[in-house]
Amino acid sequence: MKGCAYFCNRAEKRWIQNGTYGGFMAATAQKLDRKEVEALVREVLRQKLSGVAGPQSNERHAADRRPGPPHPLVVNVSARHAHVTQEHLEILFGKGEKLTKMKDLYQAGEFASEQQVTVVGPRQRIIPNVRILGPTRNYTQLELSYTDGIYLGVDLPLKISGDHAGTPGITLLGPAGALTIPQGVIRAKRHVHMSTEDMAYYGVKDGDEMKLKIAGPCGVTFEGVTVRYHPKVVLEVHIDTDEGNACDLETTTRMELVK
Ligand SMILES: [Zn+2]
Repeated sequence: MKGCAYFCNRAEKRWIQNGTYGGFMAATAQKLDRKEVEALVREVLRQKLSGVAGPQSNERHAADRRPGPPHPLVVNVSARHAHVTQEHLEILFGKGEKLTKMKDLYQAGEFASEQQVTVVGPRQRIIPNVRILGPTRNYTQLELSYTDGIYLGVDLPLKISGDHAGTPGITLLGPAGALTIPQGVIRAKRHVHMSTEDMAYYGVKDGDEMKLKIAGPCGVTFEGVTVRYHPKVVLEVHIDTDEGNACDLETTTRMELVK
């Protein structure tokens, strides 16, 4: 498995940047008003004047022949979610339960399931409707934001998905039963999924750390974005809701992934 957790939150905070061209678009098509069109035209002109040729350029020069990125840069916010083993799924939802798909995620084969659990923290505070992401895995894991951790009273360790050494446990409630896991509660470390060709393009290897530069009214540079290799993924950065809100991903004007 890709060993990671992805979930696009309800607000569809997914943005795509077209590599060297510098344009960005929301994953869902939207109407552009006159002001936005003018801004886009200005940006294209600015790039031409500064020597960065866009795809519409008729000119043929060195910049045109530079290989572009193999995949567009996509940044998705992972809302809080759980991964479960088949055994734990059956404790929570009953014997023979199978995860049923609510929605496909960006990476092929990954999905948000219809099954949801309630998280019960040590101070009896609860977070309901925490979605399970499928398919089932060989471990059970709960991924929360630091804001969730403060609310619940859980000190969250920053971990790459699947690394449960020294992590706290928690209680999950499903319609058929309660499950207390001894460990597996984490705040997922920001990361970028890359295939072999993505790593070659950016000149990085599995485990390297990169910077994600986000421009906009709440612009920010995220450091320590861990490269996570899998042969069958497409380029995708995962940040959590705290990070997505900090940079107000919806108002992002430009994104860049650098070493
Ligand atoms: Zn991920």
